Amino acid sequence: MNPIEELANAPWPELIRRARESGPQFVLRYLKMLRRQWLPQEQIRRYQERRLERILRHALERVPAYREASGTKVSVMRGEGFRVLDQFPLIDRWTLVDQWERFVARNARRFSPKLVQTGGTTGKPVSLYLDGRTRALWNMMSLLRRQWAGWRPGDRSVLFWQPYGDRPATYDVNTPHALDRSERELFLNAARLDDRRLREYVHLVVSFRPQFLRGFPSVLILLARALNSLRARLRLRAVLTGGELLGDEQRHYLEETFVCKVYDWYNMWENVATALQCERGTYHVVPELSHVEILRNGRPCKSGEVGEIVGTHLGNYSMPLIRYNMNDLASPIESACLCGRNTQPITLIGGRGRDIIVTPRGYVVVPTILLWTSILPPHSVEKLQFYQERKDEVLVRIVRGNGYAEDDTRRLIAEIDQIFDGAVTLRWEYVEEIPRTPSGKYPYVVSHVPLEL
Ligand SMILES: [Zn+2]
Repeated sequence: MNPIEELANAPWPELIRRARESGPQFVLRYLKMLRRQWLPQEQIRRYQERRLERILRHALERVPAYREASGTKVSVMRGEGFRVLDQFPLIDRWTLVDQWERFVARNARRFSPKLVQTGGTTGKPVSLYLDGRTRALWNMMSLLRRQWAGWRPGDRSVLFWQPYGDRPATYDVNTPHALDRSERELFLNAARLDDRRLREYVHLVVSFRPQFLRGFPSVLILLARALNSLRARLRLRAVLTGGELLGDEQRHYLEETFVCKVYDWYNMWENVATALQCERGTYHVVPELSHVEILRNGRPCKSGEVGEIVGTHLGNYSMPLIRYNMNDLASPIESACLCGRNTQPITLIGGRGRDIIVTPRGYVVVPTILLWTSILPPHSVEKLQFYQERKDEVLVRIVRGNGYAEDDTRRLIAEIDQIFDGAVTLRWEYVEEIPRTPSGKYPYVVSHVPLEL
């Protein structure tokens, strides 16, 4: 892919439709985004610094949380945006829960804000105002990501998802599936899934003949397993995953089942750090939306070193989040990506406490799918969850399947013990069900042990 090809492959009919709805600005900004990714790195950085300076000034003048915290009057000089940013304290989801009102700009209304809410994996809902422009940018990003995956207007896609707070309420939570003819998209509801419904979905998907499949990795895996067990086949152009972190085993399983590439994106509802995966498999940060730092004990990581993803909004003026710690792990990549795009490349490691267990020796990313699909016979284990309260102990919750044999637990635990390299004591219990979180995610890992970085 190169800039000219990318321009030629832009989803023009879709862009024209959007321009009719929201004005020609949409198209112009999309084309700028397309062009920007190929600019020299230094130029992208300068663009980000200019926007950073503007939003930092706004935050210091209009947002109580930053106005009061800065104490002395901080002035943001031209060309010093990144240096000034270093003086801002780190905040996170809990800061937002505690002091919500103080993060709303005094002139928030000017920016056509809309409140989005998340159920969240921590159980405590938290909300955020997103500007009209942030929402438009989100739409552009989602077009860009589909363009990277080879999508063209008119292609059919399947969305396997659970409707929740931060998505427009297009689909009712009680609708098992629905067809959006204008978007040529078949929606499958991931809520209230069981084997019977999964089999029904496989038949629907096969007869719909989509080119693309989109959804949470964990539910797409369920669909892939159902497809395999029914010996059905699909010919796809790409699978697009998001909403949860995608493990290597999950990726391989999806790629093998659907015989195509998986394009993942990292984007949480805060819109404070977004990265799209290119055709070479690298995650590229979207520079228009936010500035992303990867920090370890408050200082920037070197190439290959693992740190926490800390993001700063570059355009969300109604409620700007500055140096917001996602509590997810990544490491910077120094070398340029072979795809030729110059937007910041990162390696995603894992996070949100979902995939990571902290042990006395470090942390382990749990390869759950590997356990499911290659070690045990089919239908022996329905679901697994790793639950951790102490650093040296992990509780494995097992939902037994129809084909469960007594020996399966021993084999499973022996395998898990190898993955942890004996660093933790393993206990297990049989449970009837592992509930999904309010946002529809299936928590493989619940760890109450903080990450030590
Ligand atoms: Zn790339």
